[in-house]
Formats: sequence, structure tokens, C-alpha cells
Amino acid sequence: MKIASLFKKKTVFSFEVFPPKKTSPIDSVYNALDELEKLHPDFISVTLGAGGSGNGANTIAIAKRLKEKNNLLPMSHLPCIHYTKAQIDEILESFKENGIENILALRGDMIPDLVPTTDFKYACDLIEYINSKGDFDIAAACYPEGHTESPNIDIDIENLKRKVDAGASHLISQLFFDNDAFYNFRWKTMKAGIDVPIEAGIMPVTSRKQIERMVSMCGASMPRKFTRIIQKYENNPEALRDAGIAYAIDQIIDLVAEGVDGIHLYTMNNPYVAKRISEAVSGVIKAGDKN
Ligand code: FAD
Repeated sequence: MKIASLFKKKTVFSFEVFPPKKTSPIDSVYNALDELEKLHPDFISVTLGAGGSGNGANTIAIAKRLKEKNNLLPMSHLPCIHYTKAQIDEILESFKENGIENILALRGDMIPDLVPTTDFKYACDLIEYINSKGDFDIAAACYPEGHTESPNIDIDIENLKRKVDAGASHLISQLFFDNDAFYNFRWKTMKAGIDVPIEAGIMPVTSRKQIERMVSMCGASMPRKFTRIIQKYENNPEALRDAGIAYAIDQIIDLVAEGVDGIHLYTMNNPYVAKRISEAVSGVIKAGDKN
């Protein structure tokens, strides 16, 4: 099933997971998948490293298991900047063989000391290429506060439009903590003629280290309410986790009330946190359905 078709009927609720580190066996993530299955997400996306050294085998194995064992709709991420066309061809073939038809097409982060291949410069190049290779449903990433390399949000939205014009059927946003930033962004995308569904990326904050890493990577702004929580509970992991969960729930309730197309929860492979959030928002998400 193509994910794009879901948005016509409902407020989509999806999860994101990542493959285990190279030092851990792949089945170390399977228990998390089994727990996430019980929360009935509309789909689960699986990240894929930008390095270009692997062939996405772990990502594909997890997506295949989600489909066959968990009976869930999988989406595979696919970065391109460090991949050659031949490597992308091999991965797309493997997607086809394993029944994976939903792809999040990405440029990927530049890896220091690794020279990009010249086959793909931007995500829009990959989207166009995938479209020429088969019948996939292609999503793309978007950045409510602008991509870190972009001179300003307006230029970033012009580039986002290129991805939609190339064939992206829906968008998934970078994490953000300020819903107003998302609403401003959504208004600007509408003015730019971007008319595909946009899922809001929500990351529940459960540790101080995690926040620092994430914010330094993506530059998300932190509203006063959010920083106060961190300062107050930074040395109390249980309280910080509870406050992070409550903050994410509050964000989601507000987003659904504002008619968001979908919520994409960055689960960090933590089913306990995903469960608490899912249970708290399930009625609200259902109330956003279109039939
Ligand atoms: P692009 O859309 O190509 O944009 C990159 C930069 O180039 C932007 O500044 C943009 O404004 C500019 N640009 C784009 N097109 C053009 C153009 N035609 N001309 C001039 N400038 C242009 N990374 C991974 O490696 N693996 C993952 O699994 C992964 N999953 C992610 C999931 C989500 C939901 C998000 C939001 C990000 C994810 N990332 C992942 C990170 C992502 O790869 C990085 O943010 C990367 O830096 C940009 O990727 P992109 O696809 O948005 O790039």
C-alpha cells in the first residue's frame, strides 16, 4: 500500500526506528518492533546511514520484518550523497524483491572525510531517479525552521518545492519544539504552491544529552517553556522523561487541533515512551480523521 493514499482518509500517525549499531545484532531491535506493533501506527519508517559503505541490508531486513511479521506498513529511508547510481540501483532492486514500496528520499548528511559521489547532489535528483526506476511512493524531508545549510527559510522552501515537483507525494518534518514555527512554515509552503501532506516530526525528549545532540545537529529553537523543563529536571532522569513525554503530548494535541496532516514520532527505538504518548493521544488522532 502506498502511504500517500492514507492522508485522504485520516490524520496519519507514524513512527521512526533505526537499525542497531554495527556492534549489536539486528534482532536486538526486534523486541521494540513487536512492542510498537501493539500501538497500531499507520506506518513505521526505518533510517538508513548516509555513509554509502553498506547496502542498506539492516534497514531492508527491519522493513521486511515489519511487513511480514508485524503486519505493518514499512517505509525505508534512502540517502544519496555518498552513494553511486549503481549502489542506489542495487538498493532499489532489493526494495522491490522485499515488497518495500514506500521510500523517504534524502540527500543525507555530509560525512566529514568522505567525498560525495557526483551522481546525486540533492534529494530532488534522487526523487527523479527513483521515479524513473519503478512504481514507488516517495516522501521527502522538510525543515520548519529551515535546513541548517540554507541561507534562509524562503530559499529552503523554493528547494522543497523542487522535491515536490520532482515527485514527492508527502513530506515529513524535522523535529521542532515550537508549534508556531511549524504553523508559519506550513503557511509559507502553501503560499509557495506546495500542496502535498506534511507530517509533523515530534521527538519526545527524555534525556539532556539527547537534546543537546539533536539541537546542535538540526538547530531547532527551544521555547521558554521547554528550556525551563530541561533546567528544572536535568538531573532527575525520571522527571525529565515524564516532562518530555507530557511536552510531546501537548505539542501533538495542539497540532491535531490545527488540522495537521499527520504526526511522525521519532521513537528512538523506545517503545515505553511511544506507548505512553500513543495512549494519551489516540482519541485526539482519531477525532482528526476525515470520514
Ligand atoms: P535536500 O533536500 O537535498 O537539501 C539539502 C540542502 O540543499 C538544503 O539546504 C536545501 O535548501 C538545498 N537544496 C536542495 N535542493 C537544491 C537545489 N536543487 N539547488 C540548490 N540547493 C538545493 N539522513 C540520513 O543519512 N539517513 C536517514 O535515514 C535520515 N532520515 C531523516 C528523516 C527525516 C524526517 C529528516 C527530516 C532528516 C533525515 N535525515 C537522514 C537527515 C537528512 O539527510 C539531512 O537533513 C540532510 O542534511 C538533508 O537532506 P535532504 O534530503 O533534506 O536534502
